This record gives sequence, structure tokens and C-alpha cells, in this order.
Amino acid sequence: MGKYLDALKKDVRFVEGMKSCMNCGVCTAICPAASFYNYDPRLIVNTVQTHDEEKIEQLLKDDIIWYCGQCMSCKTRCPRGNAPGLIICALRKLSQDTGLFAESEKGRQQLAVKRTVGDNILKIGYCVFPDTVIPEKHPEQGPVWEWIYEHRADIMSKFGANYKGRFGALRKIDDKDLAELKSIFDVSGGSDLYNKVEKYSSRKAKEMHMHLDETNDCEYVTHVMDYNSNTHSKE
Ligand code: SF4
Ligand code: SF4
Repeated sequence: MGKYLDALKKDVRFVEGMKSCMNCGVCTAICPAASFYNYDPRLIVNTVQTHDEEKIEQLLKDDIIWYCGQCMSCKTRCPRGNAPGLIICALRKLSQDTGLFAESEKGRQQLAVKRTVGDNILKIGYCVFPDTVIPEKHPEQGPVWEWIYEHRADIMSKFGANYKGRFGALRKIDDKDLAELKSIFDVSGGSDLYNKVEKYSSRKAKEMHMHLDETNDCEYVTHVMDYNSNTHSKE
């Protein structure tokens, strides 16, 4: 057994998701991501099933493992009881642990996820909060969002939220609760994972001769967030 397969076999998602594949392609037929991306979950399962370490390493470095939307439709249909979506979860974790995520365009976006949703959780206690969806960084929100963002306190209260209040939806999370959250991340491996994403991204930024610092508008973070090679979708 090689190092990648050994690591995968310690991940409960892999143990649960990988029985044996007969290459029928039902998972790909049902997969919504496969109808959009150049993506074939059947191929991923089959590659892992070969136990070929070089091929598994190639997967860990590839964009392909980041296309899955984690909907688990594949699990419901696989005649062999596999769950390609869970296998992909395990591959992603291994890619993060080994730093190989930084070798692909979609993998490098892990830093963007960590710097936004990930850091938000520890700083304010929410993955996403109205203040964090800055209009110029989120054009997908459309032109109305700029107005909502500017008037967010009034608008959120119209939806029944207690924006930055003491109780209820969108309340300000207490410092002691944030400290508890950080402790949970420390003991459960979340903080370690964040550190790995930062460490390997920093190494990649140097390799790419791009500036990376703790801000989200530095050269590397901006590149990771904005760059699109347009090679991912079927069109
Ligand atoms: S549906 Fe199951 S058996 Fe068929 S290719 Fe996908 S993982 Fe393999
Ligand atoms: S979990 Fe991933 S691979 Fe499975 S159907 Fe959903 S998008 Fe496709």
C-alpha cells in the first residue's frame, strides 16, 4: 500500500464511500456537475480503485476534484453502494494536507475560501454576514445588492433580524463564544487545516512570483479569486 492510499483508508468518508466500482457510469449520468464541467466522477472512482499512487497523486493536483458540488446524488444511484462525492471529500482533504491543492487553479481557490468564509467563522461567528459581502467583490449579487449593502441595518431589521444586537438572528456573537469556537477548531484539526492552506499557498505564491500577505487584496489572493482559465466547463 502507498502513502496516499494509506491516508485515504484512515478517512471515514473514503471507507464509507468506496466499496467496489463496476464502471457503469450511473454516477456520471446523474451528476449535475458533470453536465456543466469537464468532469466524470466515474473516472475518479476508477482511478482510486487502481491503487496506483502516481495516478492518485495526479488527482490530488488536478482541478477535477474541486468540481464536485457535494450534492450526493451519486450515492443515491450507485448500484454498488459507492459514494463518489464522499471519496472526493477524502481526496480534497488529502490534497489540502499534502499541499497539492496549490498545483491546480481550482485547488488554489482554497485560500480564497479560507480567507473569506473560513476566517469569518472565527472572527465574527458567521460564514457569511451582510458586512462581509462587499459589493465590488461580489458582482454576482447584482446591482440591487449595493443599495441593500448600504442600508443593511434597516433592511435586515425588516426581515426580523436583530442586526448586531444582543439576541436573535444576525446578533453580534459574544467574544467568549468566539473563543470557544476557536478552541473547537484547535482540538478538532480545523486550525491546523487553515494553517496548512496558508503555508502551502505562501509557498505557491513564491513559486509564481506573486506577492502574498495577510490582506485579501494582495496580488496572490486577488489572482486566486479572479483568475479563470475558462478551461473548466464543457462550452
Ligand atoms: S455508479 Fe457506482 S459502480 Fe457505477 S461507475 Fe459510479 S461509482 Fe462505479
Ligand atoms: S456529490 Fe459530486 S460527484 Fe456526486 S453527484 Fe453530486 S456533484 Fe456529482
